[in-house]
Amino acid sequence: MIFVTVKTTITRKCSKGVEALAGIGKLVRMPTPFLLRVALPVPLPRLFDYLPPDGYAPSPTDVGRRVKVPFGSRELTGIVAEVGFSTDTTPELRQVTAFLDAAPLLQGELLESLRWLSRYTHAPLGEVFGTALPVLLRQGEPLPDTHAWAWRLTTRGLEELGRLRQGTRPRRLAELLQVSVRDIELRHQRDEDALDMLMDDWRSAARALAKRGLAERVAIPASTLAPTPHPGPALNTEQQSAVDAIVSTQGFAALLLDGVTGSGKTEVYLHAIADCLRRGKQALVLVPEIGLTPQTLARFRQRLGVPVLALHSGLNDGERARGWAAFARGEARVAVGTRSAVFTPLPNAGLIIVDEEHDGSYKQQDGMRYHARDFALVRGKALDVPVILGSATPSLESLHNAASGRYAHLRLSQRAGDAKPPSVRVTDVRKRPLEAGLSADSIAAISSALSVGGQVLVFKNRRGYAPVLLCHDCGWSSQCKRCDSPLTVHGGGRRLQCHHCGARQTTPPACPDCGGLALQPQGIGTERLEERLLEKFPDVPVLRIDRGTTQRRDALAGLLEKLGDRPGILVGTQILAKGHDLPHLTLVVVVGVDEGLFSSDFRAGEKIAQQLIQVAGRAGRAQKPGEVRLQTHHPDHPLLTTLINGGYHAFAESELEQRKAAGFPPFAHLALLRAEAQHMDVANAFLQQAKNMLF
Ligand code: ADP
Ligand code: ZN
Ligand code: ZN
Repeated sequence: MIFVTVKTTITRKCSKGVEALAGIGKLVRMPTPFLLRVALPVPLPRLFDYLPPDGYAPSPTDVGRRVKVPFGSRELTGIVAEVGFSTDTTPELRQVTAFLDAAPLLQGELLESLRWLSRYTHAPLGEVFGTALPVLLRQGEPLPDTHAWAWRLTTRGLEELGRLRQGTRPRRLAELLQVSVRDIELRHQRDEDALDMLMDDWRSAARALAKRGLAERVAIPASTLAPTPHPGPALNTEQQSAVDAIVSTQGFAALLLDGVTGSGKTEVYLHAIADCLRRGKQALVLVPEIGLTPQTLARFRQRLGVPVLALHSGLNDGERARGWAAFARGEARVAVGTRSAVFTPLPNAGLIIVDEEHDGSYKQQDGMRYHARDFALVRGKALDVPVILGSATPSLESLHNAASGRYAHLRLSQRAGDAKPPSVRVTDVRKRPLEAGLSADSIAAISSALSVGGQVLVFKNRRGYAPVLLCHDCGWSSQCKRCDSPLTVHGGGRRLQCHHCGARQTTPPACPDCGGLALQPQGIGTERLEERLLEKFPDVPVLRIDRGTTQRRDALAGLLEKLGDRPGILVGTQILAKGHDLPHLTLVVVVGVDEGLFSSDFRAGEKIAQQLIQVAGRAGRAQKPGEVRLQTHHPDHPLLTTLINGGYHAFAESELEQRKAAGFPPFAHLALLRAEAQHMDVANAFLQQAKNMLF
């Protein structure tokens, strides 16, 4: 069954103009029909034919090489996608300006998987290549060096060293090189890192020596010196059988590692990766956007004892390109990265892991739309290696696949070590007075948790001061001019911000519609909660943790470190719901899940259940028992009762039943048709036409 959801987005992109440009310019006529089909980063679902450079006969080994080509009045960098004969009846083709790579940059499995992705997402191949490649490589920069460099005396340099003037910098450098530590083995050379420590500004001296042919720069293998691996805790029985199942897997298999929060899934990954390294293979680990913390990396590095490459949005362009190249050359062995790390080349693949596989950040929502978890499975199959999907709250799709036998189902039902599961209690807040959304019960519970030295997490999945600004006189509410989403109130009421497109403005002094002065922030965001908690609990630190306060990657770690083990309150969004061990956290108060209970998105219930379980899982991770309090106006809502009485799997089972009855995924396919145009009418007309064709 196919559902068509009609959705319109207006953008300024106009693909007609691009098409027209392609034909302009100098045209070349050549007798040979043999040509290169090039994928270009333009929003047109086709390849572009070019003639090879003069005297060059294309061959299939050119596929995957980057080329510079004329395109309209511009020059673009593209990738040869096919080699063939012209099917065009008017072969007035332009010529490739230059090949940028001697050997294909994209090849083998990665190239074929990207072709699949282009077909599956209906995205032009050039756009897919553009998304998959680091920006410098996309722009045509050479594949960067990933090895280390050293300087070495030449034979002449060794002979003539004595004749270099005493006391000069070149003489000093030459002497340093001559007496390098392991003289014979290293052949009178030192690596550049060592020189940096031995001599200031040695580079000018090195250039002087090189000019006279006395020294030369040589590439040496990147350091293979790695810290020795540290042993972890002894695995419990469930962990051990999960590890056994993974390491005994031959070739491709999807394994769902379904383990409650704190059950030691990461330990299982570490054992599986260690096994993969022992076999000399590469491992790729995907983590959610907010899961890639410095602690996670430190844990991987320390335990595995090999360099672990971190791939995330905080890297600069050079670092990204180097990481990509190190993997493409098979030098780097383990990468831990967020969504786009799924495009890492794996010429020597052994294992792919997707941690928190249910997490929404794996789905790219703009530009080329893809799901990194699903693409990881496609790659695992093509590479013939196991793919582990781990989660405490697996997506319904994955649970369905496990139930039907398509995925192996590995369960970790207990928390590892001594930690006990938290107790959950529902607070019915109907008709109760609320202070910034908090009931008197909740405030009392916070107070008593603090008084015995515990830490408290107040969870509200809404950042900002209030979700909307409302005119009490006429009902006007703040909306984004650019994209029609509601504008969130920030800065204690001074600013309005669109969480959808990022637009910002100052709060109007009066209602734009009626001119009245009765503008009021409606609802509760994390800022407003923070404000009230600071008033209520002036003696303890109150830390707000959401995207507003943790833009830098290590900001959250810094905030948590500042808190240490003192009693205090964390107020935050789902950023807090994962990735961090908070051993002193004893109480979690969940404020307002009610908005989501009646959403029109068929996945809303699943998302709420996952958030509640994940955030509850933060409590009592170590020795102290944890308590979770859930404030709601709908204490009898079936989602909440099933979840609290039966746990996530009971919820998942009943939700799957409902999806099946209603004919929703994973029991049916859902296609989303989007149109982009400069004018709304054009997009609507197209969508209407498409709808008429389908029904
Ligand atoms: P998850 O990834 O499932 O949330 P982790 O692997 O991070 O769980 O483990 C949670 C905590 O339990 C960590 O502090 C970890 O060191 C500890 N742990 C994991 N496995 C064991 C074990 N077998 N024995 C003792 N402690 C363990
Ligand atoms: Zn008004
Ligand atoms: Zn907007």
